[in-house]
Amino acid sequence: TRCRQGGGASSAEEPLLAQYDNEQGKPKPKSPFRKRGSLQSTTSPADLSSVSGPNPLKPQRSLPGTPSSATHCPIDLRTSMEEKYKEIAEELFTRSMAETEMRSAPYEFPEESPIEQLEERRHRLERQISQDIKLEPEILLRAKQDFMKIDSAADLELINEKSVENDDVVIQEKEVHIEEFQRVSISGEEKCGVPFTDLVDAAKCVVKALFIREKYINYSLQSFCKTTAHALQELGLKVLDMGVYDVAETPVDADAPVHPPVSETHPYDNQDPRSMPGDTEYGCKMVGGVLHVYTKKTNMDKSTELDLPYPDLKEYIADLNVMMALVINGPVKSFCYRRLQYLSSKFQMHILLNEMKELAAQKKVPHRDFYNIRKVDTHIHASSCMNQKHLLRFIKRAMKKYPEEIVHIEHGRGQTLKEVFESMNLTAFDLSVDTLDMHADRNTFHRFDKFNSKYNPIGESILREIFIKTDNHVEGKYFAHIIKEVMADLEESKYQNSELRLSIYGRSRDEWDKLAQWAVGHSVYSDNVRWLVQVPRLFDVYRTKKQLANFQEMLENIFMPLFEATMNPRSHPELHLFLEHVVGFDSVDDESKPEHHIFNLDSPLPGDWTEEDNPPYSYYLYYTYANMTVLNHLRRENRRRGFNTFVLRPHCGEAGPIHHLVSGFMLTENISHGLLLRKAPVLQYLYYLAQIGIAMSPLSNNSLFLSYHRNPLPEYLSRGLMVSLSTDDPLQFHFTKEPLMEEYSIATQVWKLSSCDMCELARNSVLMSGFSQKVKSYWLGPSYYKEGPESNDIRRTNVPDIRVAYRCETLSEELQLITHAVHTDGLDPIDEEDSLTMGPLPG
Ligand SMILES: [Zn+2]
Repeated sequence: TRCRQGGGASSAEEPLLAQYDNEQGKPKPKSPFRKRGSLQSTTSPADLSSVSGPNPLKPQRSLPGTPSSATHCPIDLRTSMEEKYKEIAEELFTRSMAETEMRSAPYEFPEESPIEQLEERRHRLERQISQDIKLEPEILLRAKQDFMKIDSAADLELINEKSVENDDVVIQEKEVHIEEFQRVSISGEEKCGVPFTDLVDAAKCVVKALFIREKYINYSLQSFCKTTAHALQELGLKVLDMGVYDVAETPVDADAPVHPPVSETHPYDNQDPRSMPGDTEYGCKMVGGVLHVYTKKTNMDKSTELDLPYPDLKEYIADLNVMMALVINGPVKSFCYRRLQYLSSKFQMHILLNEMKELAAQKKVPHRDFYNIRKVDTHIHASSCMNQKHLLRFIKRAMKKYPEEIVHIEHGRGQTLKEVFESMNLTAFDLSVDTLDMHADRNTFHRFDKFNSKYNPIGESILREIFIKTDNHVEGKYFAHIIKEVMADLEESKYQNSELRLSIYGRSRDEWDKLAQWAVGHSVYSDNVRWLVQVPRLFDVYRTKKQLANFQEMLENIFMPLFEATMNPRSHPELHLFLEHVVGFDSVDDESKPEHHIFNLDSPLPGDWTEEDNPPYSYYLYYTYANMTVLNHLRRENRRRGFNTFVLRPHCGEAGPIHHLVSGFMLTENISHGLLLRKAPVLQYLYYLAQIGIAMSPLSNNSLFLSYHRNPLPEYLSRGLMVSLSTDDPLQFHFTKEPLMEEYSIATQVWKLSSCDMCELARNSVLMSGFSQKVKSYWLGPSYYKEGPESNDIRRTNVPDIRVAYRCETLSEELQLITHAVHTDGLDPIDEEDSLTMGPLPG
């Protein structure tokens, strides 16, 4: 039996929820001038102004021509809470290092949650009642009615007619006729299921987090979800606008064909440096781990420094701490958990009511079906983009065709391909997929080390070097050939595209030039392929081998050539050409490897990072982000010279501590994997509201980290997160010639996805990909970048307008719920210290 300590049904629920806060029973002050409690006195006013300044969202250094008032934001992110945030964040970091045995992490919604217990009790009671009702109808019917009355979740109401409010927001501007569909709407007060004061507090936290993301994304010229940006704008706050959306592209005709026009010339045709943009005569050097650019090579100091802004370390650490404190805030966690549950249920309702209409809309479109809509494999590594059968056949062919070619230097002597195989006691006939042994199997589950060694054909690293590396004795010739065969297959399939990852390690300064020479020299290019550059987090390995003196050297090796190629393309002609087809950076490695360091202001700067320990994930990500941001500003200044900018799209949340996903939320355009969002409701809800792309690879997860039936993809999709399907490593996980189709096929069958779901996933994959705006206009429709059904062209995407409208309306409503709550209450600083205690360590 439950012991009620005063209060009604709803208050009995709250203390149970507040497992990680100690605000039980404490009435919240209503005044906008809330007392900040004891922390106030510990922070002197001088400290405050030096840390936060009057405009906390103001960049440290602003762009020339950007009025500093444009960056004003009245929500105070750095307050007297700064120290508290730091304390909490560090506690969380520390715990995540010792983790693994932790039963329920503080960012999780506890499994034995009071909500679930309540829910279960309610169901049991309901069942009981409905059974008993047959016996004693009258009394129990009344009991049931009473029971339902106190349950706000039962407030669901179906309204068959169109919701007027919704249409005002979304449909109004739409000219084309959208088929009518059934909407679910909730009525009544406190319709979101939590008391208004809780809603307000949670909403403020959520808004704060979204502002943080918007700031970092705008700074770095990546893209931020438009619908979310508009909602934040309605709060009357101006955030820093870098004019990312101003880029005018040649509009594509509404009736344009689905295929973009093919270029007459090969993009690598013109390698003449003289035809490339000239030297700016700029110079650059690294200061504190971030490159700075100067107008004179001879005089690199403050007087000649270009104003290329980025959020500095202090700002980042402060924001990271705010975010860390936020994801474990009890009431916020509970609020986000409920909203996610609601989004799932709402989608179920939508399907129940509109499935037939969606299907009918798809059938009405001539010619278009799942096979001939555009799909992008948003996460795939070049070194394993072919399947094992393909690699096997290729190796056999090479053995026959080039037996006498010297492919490798062993003890100063050249070895031919024939000799290499002889030394392994193998003939072409012996080779089979089994001897190749490159498929992940049940021995690789939770064993990333074993998985990594599977990259070696027949367990021999020398074959890996010869066949799947760009930098070897044959200058990556074989690898170029096999990639070109994969490209030819993609082109033949017409509708499948890939964003292949190539590696830059940061061990030496010439890696970029070699990689570019490989691509340009062997003409490795396809309209169906864009490159991402992955940087493995292997500093500790290189440092142990004494290849690097400190972390800054690694950063210089990665970024210096890119700055040089931007300042003076003629100094790196191949790299200049190659970079046009590179869309961004990926950060890769086993995320479950333990981290031994907490990233804070006491951490050594990259130049001082000389220990053999690896810096933590967030450290890698911040310095990659900061350098990329400066580089993007430099390249955009030169936009007229034809430079593209880059985005950050790391592996994130596949395993490991939660702060990976926090850094991902703050710094990146989109992420790969995101599996751990399933355990962190606050972050999952934020990823939803910001519509951050998540490239998911359930088959890969199934071999490494999470069995297929537990994969959260269907849940994410139903809630409206921006997910897409990708293959990760076809060589290791797939069997057929069309690995991406294999991925879709299995997902569809296991999770019983509808044709509409599949097409939505495919559309998402194009949206989150790095293909150009122009190409996307052909693939998705000329207005694809707009909001709502207007952005959709079913003749190209095969996604019914109904689905697109549902997603857009749902997101807008969700954002409205939050912004209205913040608006109603006014923008006074958030009183949080009560809810910011971690509680004892479990167990
Ligand atoms: Zn991967």
